[in-house]
Parts: sequence; C-alpha cells; structure tokens
Amino acid sequence: MEKMTSPYKWGMVIDLDRCTGCGACVVACQAENNVGLCDKKEISEGRNMHWLRIERYWVGEYPDVRVRFLPVMCQHCHDAPCEPVCPVYASYHNPDGLNGQVYNRCVGTRYCGNNCPYAVRVFNFYQHEWPKPLDNQLSPDITVRSRGVMEKCSFCIQRIRRAKEEAKGEGRQVRDGEVQPACAQTCPAEAMVFGNLADPRSRVARLSRSPRRFQLLEHLGTHPSVFYLKGGGREHV
Ligand code: SF4
Repeated sequence: MEKMTSPYKWGMVIDLDRCTGCGACVVACQAENNVGLCDKKEISEGRNMHWLRIERYWVGEYPDVRVRFLPVMCQHCHDAPCEPVCPVYASYHNPDGLNGQVYNRCVGTRYCGNNCPYAVRVFNFYQHEWPKPLDNQLSPDITVRSRGVMEKCSFCIQRIRRAKEEAKGEGRQVRDGEVQPACAQTCPAEAMVFGNLADPRSRVARLSRSPRRFQLLEHLGTHPSVFYLKGGGREHV
C-alpha cells in the first residue's frame, strides 16, 4: 500500500438494497464521459463500451426468487492488478488513491484489461463518431478517445479536479458531498454514495464501516475503493 500523500482517498459505497437496476447511472456515465456508442452488431461481438455495467443475479429458490442488481465500475483498487502490467505506465495510481489512465500514452496492448479481475476496462476497437448535431453533446472537459485506446471509469475525475481547485482557491478542503460522479448524482434511489474515505466522518467512510459491507473478490487482495452493502437492512447516516 502506498504512502498517503494527499488528504483525499476517493471511494464509493453502493447499497444493493436500494439499487433497482434502472440503468440511469449507466446512461449518465456515458453522457458525462463521451463514451462511444456501439450498435447492435458491435455489441453482439462483445464490443460494448460502457464504463459501468449492471450485473443481475437472484437470491432464493423458485418460486421464492428475488432478482438483485450489482452496479460494477472500476473498483479503483489500492493494489491494482492493471497497473504493474502496463508497459508504458498509462495505467497509474494517483495520490488520491485513484487508478488513472493516460489515454495518449496507451499503446493498446490490453494487458491491463486482461489482468483486471472485475472486467471493467473497455478497449476502443472502433473510431466512434458523433455526426452533427450529436457532437454538441460531447463534454469539453473530456478527451474524445480514438481507436486503439483502453478506457474506464475515472470516478469523473474532471469533477473532482474542479471541486479541488475551487476548494484550494478558498483555502479549504473539499466538503463532504461537494463532488459526485455522474452515476451517483443521477441515481434516483441514492444507492451510490461518493466521498473521501480518508475523512472518517464523511458519509462514505461511515457507510464503509457498516456491518453490511463487502467488496468484490475480496480474497484477491486488490483492496478496492468501492464497497457494497448487502441487502437486508437500511443505514441511516
Ligand atoms: S441508477 Fe441507481 S438504482 Fe439505477 S441501476 Fe444505477 S445504482 Fe441502481
């Protein structure tokens, strides 16, 4: 685990008891981050570009079966398997505990994607286009990636940067709840809580200590920054 050099360690808690599987977070992420759209044929070939996916599973036995949903994005692991395998250091760890991806450094070996146990990295096989007037929807804060580049969730780093700059200008730290990724902002069920895990009083840090917490593939020792809350109760924080 690297030495903490920043007052921030960004993380997320997702309450599976709240998630209805509506998919609004997936669309919000696509719109915010200029994620390329794949057509039916491309998706049938496994070329889906979404940075966030909703896994489905069920609990119980027939006929008493209940469907559950599991939103999965980059887990921003503290000991990330994607980082040491990149030959050009395009995948790196930033001081705030995030897994960064330097697009103009990526040479497309896909080692990182193959080494990610969560399968959350997507490779741009096509030159995605936004014919006019659809190009008006592109966010000017985000690079429009080209073919041959690996991409993934950044916890909307453009929003984090803006919040940090504003806070720095005012001589303070980013306040709890001041910055949210597009997915968390959009979720109608407020299933996603984002914030600074390094602040023990933040909402995300308190929820991450819940007895309902668990992490995906915890036994691998990747130490993700995303925590999930199992179904079966509510946290009131
Ligand atoms: S927007 Fe919220 S409720 Fe809908 S799928 Fe995403 S996490 Fe679940």
